Amino acid sequence: MVEPPDSPMLSASQLAMLAELGNEQTADVGDVLYRVGDQRYPFIAILEGEVAIVDAAGDEIVRHGPSRFLGELNLLSGQSVFVTAVVAQPLRYIAVDRDVMRELLFEDGPLSDLVLSTFIARREALQTVEGLGLQIVGPRSSGETMRMLDFVRSNRLPFVWHDEAPAEGEAPLVRLPGNAELHAPSSGQLLRALGVGRELAPREEVDLLVIGGGPAGLGAAVYGASEGLDTLVVESTALGGQAGSSRRIENYLGFPAGITGTELAGRAVTQARKFGARPATPYRAVSLEPGNGRHVVRLEEDHEIAARAVLLATGADYRRLPVDGLAEYEGLSVFYAAGPPEARLCGAARVGVVGGGNSAGQAAVWLARGGALVTLLHRRADLRETMSDYLVRELERYGVAVRDRSEIEALHGEEGHLDAVTLTSGERVPFSFLFLFLGARPCTEWLGDTVLRDDNGFILTGADAHAEHLLETSVPGIFAAGDVRSGSTKRCATAVGEGAMAVQFVHAHLGRVLTRRPAPV
Ligand SMILES: Cc1cc2nc3c(=O)[nH]c(=O)nc-3n(C[C@H](O)[C@H](O)[C@H](O)COP(=O)(O)OP(=O)(O)OC[C@H]3O[C@@H](n4cnc5c(N)ncnc54)[C@H](O)[C@@H]3O)c2cc1C
Repeated sequence: MVEPPDSPMLSASQLAMLAELGNEQTADVGDVLYRVGDQRYPFIAILEGEVAIVDAAGDEIVRHGPSRFLGELNLLSGQSVFVTAVVAQPLRYIAVDRDVMRELLFEDGPLSDLVLSTFIARREALQTVEGLGLQIVGPRSSGETMRMLDFVRSNRLPFVWHDEAPAEGEAPLVRLPGNAELHAPSSGQLLRALGVGRELAPREEVDLLVIGGGPAGLGAAVYGASEGLDTLVVESTALGGQAGSSRRIENYLGFPAGITGTELAGRAVTQARKFGARPATPYRAVSLEPGNGRHVVRLEEDHEIAARAVLLATGADYRRLPVDGLAEYEGLSVFYAAGPPEARLCGAARVGVVGGGNSAGQAAVWLARGGALVTLLHRRADLRETMSDYLVRELERYGVAVRDRSEIEALHGEEGHLDAVTLTSGERVPFSFLFLFLGARPCTEWLGDTVLRDDNGFILTGADAHAEHLLETSVPGIFAAGDVRSGSTKRCATAVGEGAMAVQFVHAHLGRVLTRRPAPV
C-alpha cells in the first residue's frame, strides 16, 4: 500500500532547511534503514525513491515516496521501534539526527504541526495493525497480566495479547520488539526496557515537584519551568492524564475544530520539555512527608524527591460498576476508554456505553462512527441535564439509541466475553461490549491525613484549608490543582489554568521561605 496521496508532504523549502541540518545519503533496494527493536534512528526525509514499512513478519504496512518522511512517536520518545524500514526503490534521502530534529521542532511551528500530527496519526494507525508491537502472554485470571494490559493501553503501545499461561516463569511474559523477554515486569521496567522513562537518581532535590502529568500537572510544568523553577513532573501511568484518553476535546480554547487528547497531551509534553521541565514516567508517588523548607515525596522503587514546593495534581480515576464478576470482563469486553483498538473490536457489534456525561457521549459517537450499534444508558430522565447539547445532537446524527433512567444490575457471558446485561428494571439487553464512563474518584488515598481532604477525598485548598493562598493546601508549600482539588471544575481548561496559577503561589511561598531564612553572620 502506497501512503495515500493526501498524506503529509514536506515543502521544497522545508526539505532545503532539513538538508542544511542533516546529511544527504543514498541507499540501495533491500537496504534496511532501521529495524524492529532498534532504539535510535534519525529523522529521514525522502528526496527520491521509495521506502517500505514492514512488520516483524516482513509484511508491508505502508510505502513512502518523495517528499514524505519516516518515523512515528518513538522518534521523539526514544521508544523501541515497532516496524522495519526497507528501501523499495533506489533512495536519495536526508538524515537528520533526532536531537537536532527535536530542537528544530521547538523552533519551527509549521514543521512541528506537520510532523507531530503525522507521528500521532501513525501511532494510532499502528495500534490497529494486527500482530504488531509487544506480545503479552498471560491468562486473564492473572491480576498482573490484566494490570499490564491496562498499562500498555493507557500508554498507547501497540500490543498483542495471548490469553494463556506462559510456557515457563511468572505471568505475564512480555516479549519486546526485537524478541527480548521480560517476566512479570513492573511498568517502570517495561518502559525502561523499551527505551523510555528517565531514570531518576535515588534522591533528587528540586524547586517544584509536580505529582501527576495530566493537564493540571503539565500546565504547572510549562509555567514553572518557563519561569525559572527547576521543575520535575512524576507520572505513574501515562502523561496526559484523563485528557489523554479523550477522543476529541471540542471545548478547549484555541482549537475550534477540536483536538484529540493524544495530540493535546503530546504537544503539552513537548512544550514542557522545551522549557526544561523534566517529565519522569512511570513513577508513582506513595508518600508525602511535609518538612521545614523541603517536603519529601517517596516514589515506588525507592526513589526520594526533596522539593521546596509540591503540587498535587493526581486527578481522578474512573469509577467502576457495582456488579458481580466485573473484573472477569474488564479489558476483554468491558472498557473505560474508547480508542482505536477498541473501535476495531467493536465494528458491527452491539455496544453499550454507560454514563450521562460528555465523555460517554464522545465515546458513543466515536464507536458509532466506527460501525458499532451503540446504545447509551444513563440514570436521569433527560440526557440534556448532564451532556452538552452539541453531543446530544451528534448522538442523533450517528444513530446512537439513548435509554433514559437505565442502570445495569448484572452482566452475563462466559470467560470474559459479554453476551448481555440485565437492567434494574429486569429487562435483558444484548451487548457484546460495554464502555463505562461513570465519573471519577480522586487519586488521594496515598496521602493519608497529610493534607486536609473533603468527605469524598478531594483535597481542600484556600480558605477551606485555612491556607494563605487560593490553591494552597493545609500544609504551607504544598498546593493542589485540577480534578483532585475539592470544588474544582472538572474540565481540561480549568485544570490547565489552575496548574498555571499554582506556580504564582509557589513563587510567593518560596519568596516567603527565603525572606524568613536567618541572615548569614
Ligand atoms: C474520556 C474523557 C473525555 C473528556 N473530555 C473532556 C472534554 O471534552 N473537555 C474537557 O474540558 N474535559 C474533558 N474531560 C475531563 C478532563 O480530561 C479532566 O478534567 C482533566 O484531565 C483533569 O486534569 P488533571 O490534570 O486535574 O487530572 P488527570 O487528567 O486525572 O491527571 C492526573 C494524572 O495524575 C496521575 N497520578 C495519579 N496518582 C498518581 C501518583 N500517586 N503518582 C504519580 N502520578 C499519579 C494519573 O496517572 C494522571 O495521569 C474528559 C475526561 C475523560 C476521562
